[in-house]
Amino acid sequence: MTVAPDMVLAARLFERLRLDNTDQDGVTRDTYGAGEQRAHDLLAAEARALGLEVRTDAALNLYLTLPGRDRGLPVVMTGSHLDSVPVGGNYDGAAGVVAGLSVLAGWVAAGISLRRDVTVMAIRAEESAWFPVSYIGSKAAFGQLGAEALEARRFDTGRTLAEHLAGLGGKPDALARGEPQLDARAIDCFIELHIEQGPVLLGQGDVLGVVTGICGSLRYRRARAVGRYGHSGATPRLYRQDAVVAFAELVYRSNQDWAEMEAQGHELTLTFGRVDTDPHQSDLSKVAGEIDFCIDIRSRSKATLAEMDRRLRLAVRTPGVVFDFGAASGSEPARMDENLRQALTSAAAAHGLCAPALPSGAGHDSATFAHAAVASAMLFVRNANGSHNPGETMTMNDFAAGCAVLGSVLAQRAGGKP
Ligand SMILES: [Zn+2]
Repeated sequence: MTVAPDMVLAARLFERLRLDNTDQDGVTRDTYGAGEQRAHDLLAAEARALGLEVRTDAALNLYLTLPGRDRGLPVVMTGSHLDSVPVGGNYDGAAGVVAGLSVLAGWVAAGISLRRDVTVMAIRAEESAWFPVSYIGSKAAFGQLGAEALEARRFDTGRTLAEHLAGLGGKPDALARGEPQLDARAIDCFIELHIEQGPVLLGQGDVLGVVTGICGSLRYRRARAVGRYGHSGATPRLYRQDAVVAFAELVYRSNQDWAEMEAQGHELTLTFGRVDTDPHQSDLSKVAGEIDFCIDIRSRSKATLAEMDRRLRLAVRTPGVVFDFGAASGSEPARMDENLRQALTSAAAAHGLCAPALPSGAGHDSATFAHAAVASAMLFVRNANGSHNPGETMTMNDFAAGCAVLGSVLAQRAGGKP
């Protein structure tokens, strides 16, 4: 017999999360700010009402635990993040935390007893929109954040991560010392439910998808092309050092490389997401002397990231314009656990759903768990209108299907019947 997750609780939580923020159109749960904190307070209060164990760590990640019969066994974990990008949607991140709590609420109501502890983790600060650091909460949990990250400043307040964290009662010093808050050996697995954020499942007519791996990234946040400003009428073509033309050639050539690599079987994305000329110097009657831009490359393969990087540098060959990509940053690709993937696919089939395998182009906390050698998996629920915008749309029917599949696999791992 299957115990259904508590969808009445889920609907109530989503409604409260939506109302608990000051945005007119979208949802803003600012990282280590009032918005994210309200969401954590809400989930902690609901968990206490259900009789779950509630605790936080030095990074103020929140752990909601249904104790098992044998508390010495490695714990089964699920969850996701509760922060959002500025003016984002209500489901990115929150869906995974609400799903976990809804599953536990169903078990509590049915009086289910499992062998292992099952913990829902509400992770802090997954979005790198606020601080220029990715996966802050999950990295901190494994003692991998690094002291430097704590000095990163939030883009809107100008205050450091350490200051924000301390202001809410966290312990930045412990994180700076790299003290782990979680022991990977004491975790049986981590399974994250998340909205898809892209159009693939909806386009295929599938409700759920099982993630094969999470793309890593190679990023140049502050790349520049420097030529020379000149009069638009008085500078003949051969005398120009036009940064815009040189940049256009880089984009054209690297996109050709991308297509060529795809034809060879590589999977990757390449994006020039911000392109600026200097507003004080550029003008209708000038040849542009400088362009600032950024580059984002993503792939599940480290070799593919390196190959695109190599080709990008070869794609720069306009005389008179010098390119400086600046410092590289990024994250490592992560593979999802084969056994967990199969368990999710089978559980979906048992619920009458085909859940195709697909890669995740977006980064997720599950990558941090996988890198810490925790068996990790992700279940995607389809949603319309992408993500990181107020239009994010997931139906409660689709979400219920995702919660049911999640609940089945968590129960299997925890050694129970539902
Ligand atoms: Zn997310």
